[in-house]
Amino acid sequence: MHSTLFIQAPPVLGNQFRDDAFLQSYLRRKLPAAMLQQVEAELSDLGALAGGELYRLQLQDRLNEPTLTQWDAWGNRVDRIEVSPLWRRAADVAASSGLIAIAYERKHGRHSRIHQFAAVYLFHASSDVYTCPLAMTDGAARTLTVSGNQPLIERAVPRLTSRNPEDAWTSGQWMTESTGGSDVGASLTRAVRDDSGQWRLHGKKWFTSAITSQMALTLARPEGNGPGGSGLAMFYVETHNPDGSLNGIRVERLKDKLGTRKVPTAELTLDGARAELVGDTRHGTRNIEPMLTVTRAWNSVTSVSFMRRALALARSYAHQRSAFGAKLGELPLHVDTLAGLEAETRGAFLLAFELVELLGRQEAGELDDTQRALLRVITPIAKLLTAKQAVAVVSECIEAFGGAGYVEDTGLPALLRDAQVLPIWEGTTNVLALDTVLRGELGAGLPALRARVQQAITPAQGAGQSDERLAATGQQALAAIEHVFAWLSNNDDPRRLQANARRIAMTMGRALELSLLIEHAALSADEPDPVAHLAAARRFAAAPVDLLADINSEDSARLIE
Ligand SMILES: Cc1cc2nc3c(=O)[nH]c(=O)nc-3n(C[C@H](O)[C@H](O)[C@H](O)COP(=O)(O)OP(=O)(O)OC[C@H]3O[C@@H](n4cnc5c(N)ncnc54)[C@H](O)[C@@H]3O)c2cc1C
Repeated sequence: MHSTLFIQAPPVLGNQFRDDAFLQSYLRRKLPAAMLQQVEAELSDLGALAGGELYRLQLQDRLNEPTLTQWDAWGNRVDRIEVSPLWRRAADVAASSGLIAIAYERKHGRHSRIHQFAAVYLFHASSDVYTCPLAMTDGAARTLTVSGNQPLIERAVPRLTSRNPEDAWTSGQWMTESTGGSDVGASLTRAVRDDSGQWRLHGKKWFTSAITSQMALTLARPEGNGPGGSGLAMFYVETHNPDGSLNGIRVERLKDKLGTRKVPTAELTLDGARAELVGDTRHGTRNIEPMLTVTRAWNSVTSVSFMRRALALARSYAHQRSAFGAKLGELPLHVDTLAGLEAETRGAFLLAFELVELLGRQEAGELDDTQRALLRVITPIAKLLTAKQAVAVVSECIEAFGGAGYVEDTGLPALLRDAQVLPIWEGTTNVLALDTVLRGELGAGLPALRARVQQAITPAQGAGQSDERLAATGQQALAAIEHVFAWLSNNDDPRRLQANARRIAMTMGRALELSLLIEHAALSADEPDPVAHLAAARRFAAAPVDLLADINSEDSARLIE
């Protein structure tokens, strides 16, 4: 018999809105007071759900995974997918909380996207990545809305944006084929018209998440079209026929994945699936771009949501767990470690929400030319940088639990596994870095980004500013951007540009994050705890911001020979 039993108090979560002082200070700065008053109660309810019922369900649900039943008892191919209990609850919460609807009802004009994504940020980490189908649903609603295809808009958009869980639809986005995920232009799926003039799709889609959705937007090559992305067209597909059978689709298997294990991700065969052309018979990769802008914003916000959740748990644990005669939260090096993660999380939050704010302005028709260029350039940058920060921050948070972080029934390892998908889907880090530097948008995008950095650091340079170090960190952000300008003007070899694309994109992103932290600190001087805002900017600046380095490409080639 043990005379004393070892019982460790677990980390606890409270109301994820009320406990998040940084989120609240951001919303107070960005939203009109009357609007904030209207949305605060609803965000607080969602925060309570996320830290309460949904979090408990998530822990209970840990071992449940989606199942695929391909055949019924009588030999019929049925390909039925059952999802986990939390996913069913998450679907209800998502629709009734208006996680998609808020953006389309646009009750608060350009601020509507901030409202929506504040809710998504609260919901995501307790949803077992139900935000994957939601991101694609939002992307599909936006893509259809701007497509001008009135019959499809009338049929699908009200369902995609419904607040009624009984009739709300979700959408898939079927792009990746075994021949190409990054290189989508290599897609082999064919689109042919049958005798009645109906388009039908034939091919295999290699990664299709959330195959329980009612519809999808996908790419296929109409017969006779040439190769590459411009020869693809964008199609709308409903997954089921009116009688409930699958629409010329076979679910071959569910992927056995490292993480996102609650998300049913399938390999599909399209065997004559009925489809509607959304726009023209070409330029599918270009026409599907509005979807990617939206899903990359979701990726950025969900990255920050994971960071916030991992940190909330690690901070709680630091007050429970003792080592060397003190709580972890009293040990200087543990405090220093968590503080660095908090600064990264706040920087990533401000970058993700900069993108969200610009998206809201675009949809409200309130973008000027500089902001338009900024939106284009920061969409890939925000996605790639926040995803990488999420993996790094969540990984450190796991370590902050010591061995408990590595033990499955704490629920903690799933956070790291799930975060690891963020740099892969919706464009890998390299592909988005190339997108940033090679697409000709850098010509307008880099000056727009410099202008935003300059604008963000200006309040900290003003007279009466009490913190001189804040002004100095502002110069550090600007110097990093100037370094990118100088590097680009001295390096025009396309292969060298490609090899350095990641460092360029990351430097641009980190410089913008730092400047946004400085802006937040300078403009939050009258907020509760202004010192924490200053501290976040100063701490972020202590980590590398300018990542450009003089790297010899022959050395690189030699290293991986
Ligand atoms: C859990 C999960 C769910 C998914 N769900 C969906 C879905 O619902 N719908 C969908 O369409 N797709 C989905 N995907 C697929 C995902 O979008 C692709 O895996 C991703 O785009 C990468 O494509 P790929 O796998 O073909 O990798 P590849 O394109 O083969 O890339 C391999 C590596 O090469 C690098 N690389 C590629 N090109 C370049 C280049 N030019 N220069 C430098 N480096 C390069 C990449 O960065 C990557 O590191 C999902 C993936 C996962 C993991």
